[in-house]
Amino acid sequence: MSKGQDNGTTILLGLKDYSVGEVVEREERIVVKTEVKGRMKCPHCGSGKLYGHGMCQPREILHTWSNGRRVYLELHRRRWKCRDCKRTFTEGRALVRSHSRLTRQAEAEALWAAQG
Ligand SMILES: [Zn+2]
Repeated sequence: MSKGQDNGTTILLGLKDYSVGEVVEREERIVVKTEVKGRMKCPHCGSGKLYGHGMCQPREILHTWSNGRRVYLELHRRRWKCRDCKRTFTEGRALVRSHSRLTRQAEAEALWAAQG
């Protein structure tokens, strides 16, 4: 990834299934408000018959680095319940593991940096 661009396009890389709202630039970091968009499917049984089950507390999750600054996603995630198998799940699992404070992309980049 080019380090010369500090704009929305850079930040949005890898986020095609997510809608990005306000971008807040602070001194040493950038925070991007992010929501999952589109229809979800149940990760347990694949059913599309879901209903909303509340919101998770928004969390700031490290996503990438831009010109030496950390880019965080303020991730707003909904909880869903499946009408077919009755199990609940939280959306956005393709982006971040359940209890991680880094997105999968940030985990990969951190690994690259450690090896380089
Ligand atoms: Zn299900």
